[in-house]
Amino acid sequence: MTNPVVGVLALQGDVREHLIALAAADAVARPVRRPEELAEVDALVIPGGESTTMSKLAVLFGMLEPLRERVKAGMPVYGTCAGMIMLADKLLDGRDDQETLGGIDMIVRRNAFGRQNESFEAKIDFAGIEGGPVEGVFIRAPWVESVGAAAEVLATYDGHTVAVRQGNVLATSFHPELTGDDRVHAYFVDMVRAGL
Ligand code: GLN
Repeated sequence: MTNPVVGVLALQGDVREHLIALAAADAVARPVRRPEELAEVDALVIPGGESTTMSKLAVLFGMLEPLRERVKAGMPVYGTCAGMIMLADKLLDGRDDQETLGGIDMIVRRNAFGRQNESFEAKIDFAGIEGGPVEGVFIRAPWVESVGAAAEVLATYDGHTVAVRQGNVLATSFHPELTGDDRVHAYFVDMVRAGL
């Protein structure tokens, strides 16, 4: 089977790191900024960065509705950190005008693990990923306060949910793209292949 085409939403955030991790996980990776580019990918990663800026730029670039439509239509999506925030059906501690795409029936609290200088790394046991825990890099990270019945918790840290999957949509509070360990990206690319 040919490798799936996986876009990385390139409005703001750590796009390059995701492109590299996806290529290592045998996907054809490319940046996506415009609706025409979104139409050409099998799946999408929403990177870490700043969700308020990403939300603003999504509106400005005319991407908000096209993104919502593709997610609703079942396109596989993986969001890290700010990307997790974008995939939350409900957001706490967001800005008043902040938009999310939705996709996972979960309530996410933005900046829940504290400020930039409270960033940390931790070993995370990730259900469905073999070979031992993954390194979790948390940078002003959100956590998931609660999930609906259709969503599956894949990882927790310190009693808080930090990885969730609902159908084709995956979200982590942390940044596997910054570690050089491509297992979470490979897990996502497997999800994409399974749906093609
Ligand atoms: N706190 C950021 C936000 O609200 C997320 C930080 C990150 O992606 N590392 O978007």
